[in-house]
Amino acid sequence: MRIEDIKIRKIFATNSKPTLEVEIKTKKGKVYSSVPFGTSKSKYEIVYKDFEEISEIFPRIKRYFFEDFRDIREVDRMLHSIDTSDNFKKIGGNLALGISLAFLKAFSLEEGVPVYKYLGGNTIPKPVCNVAGGWKGQSDIQEFLILPLHQDSFVKSIDEISDLYLKLGEIFSKKDPTFKFSKNLESAWVTSLPAEEILKILTNIKGENFVIGLDIAASSLWNGEKYVYKDKILSTMQQIEYVSSLIREFKLFYVEDPFHQDDFVSFSVLTKNSKCLIVGDDLYATNLRRLKSGLDISATNAVLVKPNQIGTVTDTIDFVKEAKKNRLKVVVSHRSGETDDNLLSHLAVGLDADYIKLGISGERVVKINEMIRIEEELS
Ligand code: PEP
Ligand code: MG
Repeated sequence: MRIEDIKIRKIFATNSKPTLEVEIKTKKGKVYSSVPFGTSKSKYEIVYKDFEEISEIFPRIKRYFFEDFRDIREVDRMLHSIDTSDNFKKIGGNLALGISLAFLKAFSLEEGVPVYKYLGGNTIPKPVCNVAGGWKGQSDIQEFLILPLHQDSFVKSIDEISDLYLKLGEIFSKKDPTFKFSKNLESAWVTSLPAEEILKILTNIKGENFVIGLDIAASSLWNGEKYVYKDKILSTMQQIEYVSSLIREFKLFYVEDPFHQDDFVSFSVLTKNSKCLIVGDDLYATNLRRLKSGLDISATNAVLVKPNQIGTVTDTIDFVKEAKKNRLKVVVSHRSGETDDNLLSHLAVGLDADYIKLGISGERVVKINEMIRIEEELS
């Protein structure tokens, strides 16, 4: 495929920050792709550059993208040959990802198929929905998540989680005197109730088919020596014990980043000693090399996948393939700063992910509603 034009523009993300959109024109029409933002980022993620810098870099590399590319792998190889660093520090990982995602859409358009079909997948994932917490200064734990154990359909799961989410807001308004129905960046409820209280409420209202997850985002609690919570300071051993006790008491099904991003060993200890999904987000940063280090010691039994941690579609695919080959569960995830792009839903289906992690309200419905359309198409 040879494109007719490629350009970039500044658009805005849900966190009100400017971000990048890439537009590609081919004989078949135009496609647009945009890149999201993380807030609690891993130190191993690709480098993001601001739009002003990107707009100086882009004209210098634009000409490389008018070649006749056979597939997305060739485009991504070109991106890596233009910037040979391992974190896209020369051209900006956000520019690399914007180009890669736009080419993915252009190839799909060229073949006349939706993106998920171009990628070759057909699995509707289960939703993992952020319903509470998730912002600094409230609970020490970043995200309280709800997910279905069994799924008849994606739309039914969302229907039930939406009801739970609304009910949760009503309960918080009775139990938390500071609660004002405010939502955080991912449209989860912001409450000042302690973690254990939120978990008790979730346990009481969730029903039989739903289970509870946490994103502890422990790198943000780690001060280099200990895990610092508002009401306690824990050593690594104490953190292992604390997380294990939460898993036992609240029958947690999913725990993301229970330890900081360099502590593969503690991940491995917890994975061996619990039946729960232990998910690596900041730990792996969607980076194949880091995943292989984790696999050596069975650090986790699940991976979070965020394309904007690594910068190209091909690197994302290779990461997912390696995870699946080793029977790790795959969770494709949004970022706290999103755009109106619904591509994430296509990636989750196209990569045959087990789960898709999303918010349940506000602009997050862009991805949810696209998944509902894909589900209908596939059924
Ligand atoms: C996360 O940590 O899983 C997350 C989605 O947040 P952010 O995008 O801020 O990294
Ligand atoms: Mg996380």
